[in-house]
Amino acid sequence: MAMQYPEFIWQNGRIKPWAEATTHVMSHALHYGSSVFEGIRCYDTPAGPQIFRLTDHNKRLFQSAKIYDMAMPYTVAEINSACREVIKANTLRKAYLRPLAYRGLGGFGLSADTPTDMTVATWEMGPYLGPDVLETGIDACVSSWQRFAPNTIPAGAKAGGNYLSGQLIAREARRLGFGEGIALASTGLLSEGAGENLFLVFDGVLHTTPVASAILNGITRHSVITLAQDNGIGVIERDLPREYLYLCDELFMVGTAAEITPIRSVDGKPVGSGKPGPVTGRIQELFFGLFQGKTEDKYGWLEPLDA
Ligand code: PMP
Repeated sequence: MAMQYPEFIWQNGRIKPWAEATTHVMSHALHYGSSVFEGIRCYDTPAGPQIFRLTDHNKRLFQSAKIYDMAMPYTVAEINSACREVIKANTLRKAYLRPLAYRGLGGFGLSADTPTDMTVATWEMGPYLGPDVLETGIDACVSSWQRFAPNTIPAGAKAGGNYLSGQLIAREARRLGFGEGIALASTGLLSEGAGENLFLVFDGVLHTTPVASAILNGITRHSVITLAQDNGIGVIERDLPREYLYLCDELFMVGTAAEITPIRSVDGKPVGSGKPGPVTGRIQELFFGLFQGKTEDKYGWLEPLDA
């Protein structure tokens, strides 16, 4: 289905019609992957539209830029405002936001100090991995592609170039008929999904891979860890060998786009009963409860659209 584009986008300080938000073909980022970005969701809650962890996401955007010495022409507060402005310009209430900063036109050398251009796009997006996946779960596979080794491409930055790895993992999985691919780190131990962090459940306790396993330090991952611990569910961060994907009672992946997506099989082997399990259900209930007014936001994670 062709994508329906929204009417407006924010680019370099102002709201523009979608079609006018263009860039030069010799922009540094197009050639070398030199961009950093975020994915953020705004939920339509009983208290009005709320952007989930807007400031934390935009702080991570600036941290990603810091790793690459990318000068940022705006502040976190200004990008927060741009996020609000573009949702309102498009009269959305439930939306996905995509702030992006990239090296633009101004030099062709790898170390060129080009100007940084910034855009914030927004659009309506349902569940990322398919229409019913939050209830039914997905079938995943372990990718033949591993994640980048430590001290090569920093996994802790959410940079455009990192998503060449994500594309290899996700496209291979789709080509083989799976809903998503799970990657191993260069150590051969578990890393994460193409665009999601992983949680395995053993005896009611959540196990998730550590930041040293070539993962993005996900904001949803942090939210799940916090909600679990505050509600009596244990969490262990640890290195995990691949075969534990086949041995766990339950398995799910988390991310802004994927939210809390159960995994019902890996490499054709059923996870537990082959259906989303009770701990996954409880985590979904706590997480989505934030946006339904059922889980108390003790953390200041919900940032109103109308601030
Ligand atoms: N890992 C990767 C590679 C991702 O792209 C994402 C999505 N940003 C995540 C994990 C989950 O991160 P978050 O919960 O902050 O969206």
